[in-house]
Amino acid sequence: MLSSARFIGWSFRQNLGRYARYSYSTVAKPQPNPDIYHNQVFINNEWHDAVSGKTFPTVNPSTGDIICHVAEGDKADVDIAVNAAKEAFRFGSPWRTMDASNRGELLNRLADLIERDRDYLASLETLDNGKPFHIAHAADLDLTIKCYRYYAGWADKNHGKTIPVNGDYLSFTRHEPVGVCGQIIPWNFPLLMQAWKLGPALAMGNVVVMKLAEQTPLTGLYIAGLCKEAGFPPGVVNMIPGYGPTAGAAIALHNDVDKVGFTGSTEIGKIIQKAAGDSNLKRVTLELGGKSPLIVMNDADLDYAVEQSHFALFFNQGQCCTAASRTYVEDGIYDEFVERTIKRAEKRTIGDPFDSNNEQGPQVDKEQMDKILDLIDSGKSEGATLAAGGNRYGDKGYFVEPTVFTDVKENMRIAKEEIFGPVMQVMKFSDKDELVERANDSMYGLAASIFTKDLDKAMMFSQSLRAGTVWVNCYDVFQAAAPFGGYKMSGTGRELGEYGLENYTEVKTVTIKIPQKNS
Ligand code: ADP
Repeated sequence: MLSSARFIGWSFRQNLGRYARYSYSTVAKPQPNPDIYHNQVFINNEWHDAVSGKTFPTVNPSTGDIICHVAEGDKADVDIAVNAAKEAFRFGSPWRTMDASNRGELLNRLADLIERDRDYLASLETLDNGKPFHIAHAADLDLTIKCYRYYAGWADKNHGKTIPVNGDYLSFTRHEPVGVCGQIIPWNFPLLMQAWKLGPALAMGNVVVMKLAEQTPLTGLYIAGLCKEAGFPPGVVNMIPGYGPTAGAAIALHNDVDKVGFTGSTEIGKIIQKAAGDSNLKRVTLELGGKSPLIVMNDADLDYAVEQSHFALFFNQGQCCTAASRTYVEDGIYDEFVERTIKRAEKRTIGDPFDSNNEQGPQVDKEQMDKILDLIDSGKSEGATLAAGGNRYGDKGYFVEPTVFTDVKENMRIAKEEIFGPVMQVMKFSDKDELVERANDSMYGLAASIFTKDLDKAMMFSQSLRAGTVWVNCYDVFQAAAPFGGYKMSGTGRELGEYGLENYTEVKTVTIKIPQKNS
């Protein structure tokens, strides 16, 4: 049982503290064997088998055992869901005529229900994804709830402007919903990625057909049930569990889907963008991969920088698009930093994610584990120094040892490719101008960070690093109000915050002629 006292003693407390204010007042109660309530396709506020009748297994990554079978939605189910969404979006429908503030109320009610079921949802996420329960409860659930509440507040506040035109005309703009939004989400933060997409889409009055990741469909389906309980009208939220090349592709190619929002790999992001071009030029927003640099200067607080760079890479089993997987350390502190970093990685606790003593659970599936082990092999054969870890952990489930490579060179695969696992690359630098070039020499541009006490250096790096987010003396600080997205091949568009509303809003200009005298 996880007590608040132990929770506060957890070694990432400085990072979790900001998420966990809510949890301090509650005691998180893990349920290692949560009941499964939903494993079907959700359309029109009803549960259905897939049209094909097919199912697929979802697996507990801690053991490799099948949790349950889930309906395998594909194009036929997507077609039905899109029709239901179109009907819900029909001009004059209950959803279209609902007062905007009531949409906000529904989102707040959804957030209330998630709070009510917080222990259950965190447990289900741990079972299906493998992330430690105490982290799911404190971080994922906290951010998820806050995201729905944040967008609930926007529901009746994103309105247009009046613009005088040509002397005798008046234009005004209406911020209208885009329409049927296809949304495709990944498995690393199933609840949170769902909230980032559903929150703004629903706040702005859109209707949604969402495909859940095949590795982790269970919490997303449970949220669909909560949407119904909260009172969203039929057809507004539709949820399809299934595979990418079938159900996902059907959404991306659908001629009646007005917009697609995707989070996942850069490889599949390219396919989504192409599918939009090959079909109806639907609007596309993409949040893709990363290979983010984290820079530690000689003047940084060394203990803090070691702990933060450890967190920046190993958080969520390294399965973060923002993972700081290129750690650049200035030559004056390199040796000391490496020594402490190795010790920290060796101290990292790994094992059963329902045990609150463990910081690290399994990777999400065997495919990911094998990919990570292959990249570790490439690091060894390309000449990096393996300083910690390097192997599978145990022989059950999909655990990988916390791994640290030093003496890494930019041309190695481990320095270029997204590993999405607990594998840290440490590199030395001495010339700051050259470092900017090295840090920016990547096809990705999602996040970056700098640890220094020197304001000039902090400002210089925050301006010169080509990334959608730069953290200074911190890492992975997320907030629903702060926009997030990538430069270069890390994506297009921004999610979260006020900027995120643009993805889900069409601006319509209405122009009226004003008579110049009474007739
Ligand atoms: P990862 O490699 O981390 O699993 P992916 O980009 O493969 O990331 O998957 C992210 C999401 O995209 C998942 O929901 C997956 O099913 C979906 N997906 C995969 N392939 C396609 C595709 N061809 N078209 C649409 N969606 C896809």
